[in-house]
Amino acid sequence: MDLLEESIVPEDARGVKQEAREFAETHIEPNAQEYFESGEYPREILEKGMEAGLVAQGISEEYGGRGLSLAETLALTEEFYRADAGIGLTLQLAEFGTQMLEDHGTEEQKEEFLRPVAENEQISGLAVSEPETGSDLAGMTTTAEKDDDEWVINGEKYWIGNGVEADWVTLYAKTGDDENDRYSNYSLFIVPTDSPGYEAEHISEKMCYRASKQAHITLNDCRIPEEHLIGTEGGGFYMLAEFFNHGRAVVAGHGLGLAAAAIEEASTFVHDREAFGRSVNEFQSVQHDLAEMRMEFESARALAWRAAEKVENHDNAGYWAALSKATATEAATFCAEKGMTLFGGRSVLNENRISRIYRDSRVPVIYEGSNPIQRNLIYRQAPR
Ligand SMILES: Cc1cc2nc3c(=O)[nH]c(=O)nc-3n(C[C@H](O)[C@H](O)[C@H](O)COP(=O)(O)OP(=O)(O)OC[C@H]3O[C@@H](n4cnc5c(N)ncnc54)[C@H](O)[C@@H]3O)c2cc1C
Repeated sequence: MDLLEESIVPEDARGVKQEAREFAETHIEPNAQEYFESGEYPREILEKGMEAGLVAQGISEEYGGRGLSLAETLALTEEFYRADAGIGLTLQLAEFGTQMLEDHGTEEQKEEFLRPVAENEQISGLAVSEPETGSDLAGMTTTAEKDDDEWVINGEKYWIGNGVEADWVTLYAKTGDDENDRYSNYSLFIVPTDSPGYEAEHISEKMCYRASKQAHITLNDCRIPEEHLIGTEGGGFYMLAEFFNHGRAVVAGHGLGLAAAAIEEASTFVHDREAFGRSVNEFQSVQHDLAEMRMEFESARALAWRAAEKVENHDNAGYWAALSKATATEAATFCAEKGMTLFGGRSVLNENRISRIYRDSRVPVIYEGSNPIQRNLIYRQAPR
C-alpha cells in the first residue's frame, strides 16, 4: 500500500520525495517509538538528516541551501510525518522562521544568520506565541524598545520549538501602541539565544510529539543590536502572515503523513485480526470505516497539492493555505480516531503505533493557527 503515491506530486518534486522516503524508512521509522518513549531530542537523526541534505534546505542556493520549492517541501513533509511527527517536526524546525529573514533581511543579516543555518552549523526557531495568547497576533505583549543603538526586549514566549536548542530565534515583539491600527504595532527581530537577558527552559512533558522540544522563553531586559530588526519596524504582523501562508501549506503535509500512517496501520490490523470466525475486514461496517478514511485522506491530499500551487503562485494564498491546513489536519484526526476504533482494545497499548498517531494528530489542528482561526480566514478570504 502506497498512500503517498507520487502521481499527484509535480515531477520536479519527485526526486526530493524519494530522498525523503528513503531517509524516513532508514532513520525515522525504526527509531520513532524509542524517541517517543524517552522524550529525548533526536539529535543523531537531525545530524543524519543534515548529512543527507534534507534539513534547512528551503533556504536558497545563494545562501548555502538547496532552495527547495514549496512542492518539494510538501513532498518531503508527507514522507517524514508518515514515519513520525515528533522527529519530523524536529527536522523541519531547524530552519523555522528563516524565510522571513531571507525575504526581508539585509545582506549582512543573511550572511551572519541565514547561511550558517543553511550550512547546518546553526539551527533557528520562531518565537511568536506567549503564555497568555497564541491566536491573537495583535494581542501579544512582549515589547521591544529602542535604547540608543540597541533594542531591549521584555516579556515571555511559550511553546517555542528549539527555544533551548536553537542558536537564534526570529522573535515577534510589540514596538508600537497605535490602538487604531493594532496590526502595525509589531516587529520581528533576530535574537541570538546567548543574548544577555534571554533564558529558556523546556516546557512540561507532552503526551505527543515527544521527540520535538518546545520552550518557555523569558526575556528580561534582553539586549540586541539595533541592526537585528528584520525588515521595517511595524511590519512584523504582515511578514508573519505571508510566512504562515507557506507554513500552513506545509502543515497540511503534517496531517497527510499522519492520516496515511493511520490508514496503513488500521488496514493491516483488520486484515490480520479475526472475530466470529472471519477476518475483521470482512464486516461491512469495518469496510465503510476504511472507505471513509480514504475519502477524507484523498480529498485532503488533492486539496493540499492544489493549494500548494496556489500559494506558490501567490494566488489568494491565505485562503488556500487555510483551507488546506484545516482540511488535511482534520483528515488526520478523523483517520486516527477511526484507526483507534478498528484496533479495539489494542488501540490503547503504547506499543501500538496507532496510539502514537492518535496522540500526535491532536497537534497540527492547533499550531500555525488553530483550526477555528483557519475557518475565520477561509470565510473572510473566500472569493465572493
Ligand atoms: C507542539 C507545539 C509546537 C508549537 N510550536 C510553536 C513554535 O515553534 N513557535 C510559536 O510561536 N508557537 C508554537 N506553538 C504554539 C501554537 O501556535 C499555539 O498553541 C496556537 O497558535 C494556539 O494558541 P494558544 O495555545 O495560545 O490557544 P488560544 O489562542 O488561547 O486559543 C484557545 C482556544 O480558543 C480558540 N480561539 C481563540 N481565538 C479564537 C477566534 N478568534 N475564533 C475562534 N476560536 C478562537 C482556539 O481555537 C482554541 O481552541 C506550538 C504549539 C504546540 C502544541
